Amino acid sequence: KNLIATASNKPKAKYVFRKRLPFQCWTIADLSTALQRGQFVPYFQPKLDFLTRKPIGVEVLARWMHPDQGMISPSQFIPLMESAGLIDWLTVELLHNVLDCTKKWYSARPEISISFNASPLTLEKSAIPNQWLGIVKEHNVSPERIKIEITETALPKDYKSLLESATRLHMHGFGLSLDDFGTGYSSLQLLSQIPFSEIKIDQSFVAAARNNKRSVVILNAIVSLARNLDLQTVVEGIETESDAVFFQQLGFDLGQGYHLAQPMAGDDLMRWLSAQQSVPLSGAEARFTPS
Ligand code: C2E
Ligand code: MG
Ligand code: MG
Ligand code: MG
Repeated sequence: KNLIATASNKPKAKYVFRKRLPFQCWTIADLSTALQRGQFVPYFQPKLDFLTRKPIGVEVLARWMHPDQGMISPSQFIPLMESAGLIDWLTVELLHNVLDCTKKWYSARPEISISFNASPLTLEKSAIPNQWLGIVKEHNVSPERIKIEITETALPKDYKSLLESATRLHMHGFGLSLDDFGTGYSSLQLLSQIPFSEIKIDQSFVAAARNNKRSVVILNAIVSLARNLDLQTVVEGIETESDAVFFQQLGFDLGQGYHLAQPMAGDDLMRWLSAQQSVPLSGAEARFTPS
């Protein structure tokens, strides 16, 4: 019943993950119990076209609904899940859960893609592309509607296998996106070898871009690189209208961030999507006019 009490009777696991408060820590057993109990749920954050301000995709962000501690963010459990080998399981749970929950609006909004974050540690396993294709087909969803965001949060042990899996996913029809572009160990290496259709500029660029001529030069180069490689560009961490205008004027395609839409639960996403559709364009424009 009580996750902490149950876990404390078990031998201490090797990996202990500490939260903000020093006395809060989880064991691998806590995470696997939470997975079994379905405590990880998908949140969704829309990606919007800078020009039209219409949603063209949603990103799935994992949340742990802890019975005692409330909602826990992924940065506090993904690294432990990766080192404990539980991350593949989380992704499969999320795939099923999301494809089940999005079927309420999925066919009505064909322009909206669904993005999942994938750990390189998961992708380097050769069985993954077929497993995910199987799940997607089971839910009658076309892999063309799904994007896999590849992050470099954990460096793959087996780089060659990561390339092979990514290529196979692409052949199955999945879209591939390079997440947190500009911060990873080998972004350009990955970019040259994996058939990405999208890059996501890390939110640290949003803060850096202001009053920094060198980052503007880099951002211009990224736009031109993306155009030449036929990549859609997404800027993460758009927190103000002036961020949106700034990156749109530099030539970036899409934005994601608290100013455009917060990450939200599945039911809220449905309401948000229908509100977006019913808002007359003039109203939408008025809402986003820079002050
Ligand atoms: P990410 O994929 O780069 O996701 C974007 C993160 O930025 C999310 O944090 C989102 O809530 C946050 N964000 C969105 N808009 C803004 C903004 O305007 N300002 C700021 N400061 N932040 C914004 P979140 O949900 O805490 O996720 C953190 C990271 O955890 C993700 O980064 C992703 O790398 C990882 N993650 C999340 N879900 C999963 C998952 O299911 N599997 C794997 N492997 N990793 C996941
Ligand atoms: Mg992501
Ligand atoms: Mg990202
Ligand atoms: Mg990020």
